[in-house]
Amino acid sequence: MEMITSASQMQSTCKQLTRSGKTIGFVPTMGYLHEGHLALMTKARKENDIVVISVFVNPLQFGPHEDLDQYPRDVEQDMELAKQVGVDYFFYPTVDEMYPKALTTKLTAITRVNALCGKKREGHFDGVVIVLMKLFNIVFPDRVYMGLKDAQQVAVVQGLVDDYQLPTRIIPIATVREGDGLAKSSRNVYLTDEERKLAPILYESLKKAERLIHLGERSADQVVACVKDELIKTNAVIDYVDIYAYPTFERIEKLAGQLVLAVAVKFSQARLIDNVIIKVDEV
Ligand code: AMP
Repeated sequence: MEMITSASQMQSTCKQLTRSGKTIGFVPTMGYLHEGHLALMTKARKENDIVVISVFVNPLQFGPHEDLDQYPRDVEQDMELAKQVGVDYFFYPTVDEMYPKALTTKLTAITRVNALCGKKREGHFDGVVIVLMKLFNIVFPDRVYMGLKDAQQVAVVQGLVDDYQLPTRIIPIATVREGDGLAKSSRNVYLTDEERKLAPILYESLKKAERLIHLGERSADQVVACVKDELIKTNAVIDYVDIYAYPTFERIEKLAGQLVLAVAVKFSQARLIDNVIIKVDEV
């Protein structure tokens, strides 16, 4: 595995690989890798000649009062893990390397963001699409592997690819969980012991509501209330619980079609998100 910190070197390497007919699978991350990230890389390894990952904590996607400075980092361990799953190139640019001067143009996520994290974290998805547009133009990926733990991000980025005919395919990967159901996340390290014990309730509450839907509940309000009733048992602050059509993120009152039921909860030092995607038969 080779580490590359220069954007132009990464770009010329990938251009050469593409010209020589190699397929490139790409996994963009913010580092502090865990088994969720590694599942994306393992899938990329199976489906492509070359696997490139990036580790970059993108300041553009953090709000002024968010955890940019506290975001956990451990590049040595990340390199070790990436090597173990067969990554070929580890792209690790600095902020100055990615943003050497102020941008003169800007991308804005328009639809799919008036909900959930898009609504709560203003400008977050603009930062995501800007950094990914740059990374895609550096790496020339045939396939990009993204986790459904961030289902709204997958929907927004699929929109970007469709809107601008980007020559890449987004491959969504199911959420990897701890044994007790908690979605793996770099931010889990910031849970206190007590919070860690309570955290599986996010997924349990989503699964309970999913069962309710499968038993015939079709009211969005009732489903949301079911999740909230469970979450109230923790000391965490509910940031949102909501259900939308997926991947359009249109509001839906009477449940039908493909839906995303999502939750965000603030613990003392960490904000956790989780979701389930549910298919409801039209009747
Ligand atoms: P991050 O480093 O948090 O930006 O995540 C990088 C990629 O890994 C994103 O596509 C995430 O959706 C994905 N990811 C993070 N956690 C998980 C997980 N538990 N299961 C599957 N994918 C994940």
